[in-house]
Order: sequence, then C-alpha cells, then structure tokens
Amino acid sequence: MTSKVAMVGLGRMGSAMARRFHETGHELVLWNRDRSKAEAVAADTGAAIADTAAAAAAGAGIVVSSLADDQALRDVYLGGQGVATGIRSGSIAVDTSTVDPETSIEVGEAVDSKGARFIDCPVSGSVSTVEAGALTIMAGGDVDVIAEVEPLLASISKQVIRVGDRGAGSACKLAVNGLVHGLNVALSEALVLAEKAGVSREKAYEVFVGGAGGAPFVQYKRDAYEHPEDAVVAFSLDLVAKDLELITGLGHRVGAPMEQAGTGLAIVKKAIASGMGDRDLSAIAVYLRGGDG
Ligand code: NAP
Repeated sequence: MTSKVAMVGLGRMGSAMARRFHETGHELVLWNRDRSKAEAVAADTGAAIADTAAAAAAGAGIVVSSLADDQALRDVYLGGQGVATGIRSGSIAVDTSTVDPETSIEVGEAVDSKGARFIDCPVSGSVSTVEAGALTIMAGGDVDVIAEVEPLLASISKQVIRVGDRGAGSACKLAVNGLVHGLNVALSEALVLAEKAGVSREKAYEVFVGGAGGAPFVQYKRDAYEHPEDAVVAFSLDLVAKDLELITGLGHRVGAPMEQAGTGLAIVKKAIASGMGDRDLSAIAVYLRGGDG
C-alpha cells in the first residue's frame, strides 16, 4: 500500500490542506476540476497532478477530499472518472466537505463496494486554521479507520473527535455551523448597531473581543470586519447559504426547530441577491450598512 496522499478538490480549504500535508512530509498527488488550481499548488510543492479523480485515488493509500457541496461530492466520487472508480481495496477516503449526512452515507457505500473505507471528517475552522494546523475535525465512521488516518489529520488539526457512525460527522458539522453562522449574523448586526448609534467600528470590536461574546470566531474575523474592503475571502456567502439550507433541511427531517437559522438564511440570501455571493461571510455587515464600507 502506497503512503501517498491524494488531495481531491483544491479550493481554498483543499489547497491549504495540500500545502500543510506537503510541509509535514507527505508525498502528494493532486486533482482538481479546474486544473490551474492544482498547478498552483504543484508549483509550490512539487506534487504530481492526476488527470482524473479516479487516477488520483488509484495512486494513493489515503484520499482526502474537500469539495463545495453535495453535488460536487457526488460528481467527484460517483462520476465515471470518480474516486469510487479508482480507489484501491484497503485504501481510505476521508471527506472533509460540509454536506448532508445522507450524502456521506451514499458516497461511503460506493467506496465500501470497492473494498476501500470511507469516513466523513468535516472540519471546523478556516483557511488560517488549516495553516496553523489547528482545525477541529468531527469524524463519523469506524474507530479503527479513524485511528489509521489520525497521524495524517494531525498535520491540519488540533483535535479529531469521533462523534459517531458514518454520517454523524456531517450531522455534527451542520450543528456547529448553525452556531457559527448564527454568530456571524449576530456579530454583523451588533457591529452595525453600535456604529449607527455612534460608537466607532474599532472601539465596538475591541469591546466584543474582550467581552462575553468574544469567541475565537469573533477574534479571528476582526480584520475582515474592521477592514471589509481588504477582506480576504475565507468562506464565501454562497457557501454560507448552502450550509444554512442543509442545516434547516436537517432540522426539518429530524424535528429540531431552526427558526434562527431560517432567519439567518433569509438575510444571507438577500445579501447574495445584491451581488455579494462571492464575498467573505463577514460582508453581511457591509450588506446591513447598505453597501460598501
Ligand atoms: P471553494 O474554495 O469554493 O472550493 C470548492 C471546491 O469544490 C473547488 O475545488 C471546486 O473545484 C470544487 N467543486 C465544486 N463543484 C464541483 C463539481 N461539480 N465537480 C468537481 N469539483 C467541484 O470552497 P472552500 O471554501 O475550499 O470549501 C470547501 C468545503 O469545505 C466546503 O464544503 C465548505 O463548506 C467546507 N468548509 C469551508 C471552510 C472555509 O472557511 N472556507 C471551513 C470549513 C469547511 P473548481 O476549482 O474546479 O471550481
């Protein structure tokens, strides 16, 4: 069994993960739908680029995927040239995307049918957290499989918490993102309230960070909130809407009331309709102010 790691999906998170795996001594093979993103990572790491997701999976003992949404995960695993076509018996697929638990189960079964193993390992944190090797990973699946990939995951995470069987990782991720996206909207509203009431943005943020609501998210988004014109897109509003659709959908299926998440989704959709879908999630405050600034 090769010790090579395949990184499939080289968006913001996947590229940062690939770079960390390289920095911590892992040999990589890369695949991304838009090849130019694989080439950018390969230029810095010397990693090989595969022509298809199937070929990347065939050349690795562990496949790590980071994909936008449920459709992307299905396309990349279940498509004709997908991971499930190429993955070798005994290999392990670790999906870090935020998706519906039912999709994790469906894709996992396709991987099982090849004699390989699959765990859903969505992550809490962002690009900077990957770079610091400090994600929190919530894992769903077999205990022994999770233990086998923990040394690799240690290069991007400070903790891997097994939360249950396959699908439980994805369910827990939707729950934690319900908390984060609620905080993001609440933070945006609170900041704009303070500003409109005559408190400077910087002073209000200083108080938020030091006060009872000064969670890590509030702390590491400080620059983005204080200087929205320079905010790097760590997590797009389009992906926030995707998450909130999944969160409210899961709540509906399992009978958990999600009124606050539903209100947040309506606000995010209005911001997207005003042309902000590719902005960082902190741009909710910009939207509430009524435009740029
Ligand atoms: P991103 O930058 O938008 O990257 C999305 C990736 O998905 C790209 O590699 C894209 O490929 C690929 N993709 C989309 N549709 C596809 C399809 N139909 N077929 C093949 N590939 C497809 O997103 P990201 O911010 O890195 O997020 C990746 C995942 O991590 C998401 O599930 C997100 O919710 C989750 N997450 C993100 C953060 C964060 O802070 N950004 C934090 C925690 C979790 P192309 O390059 O070809 O478009």
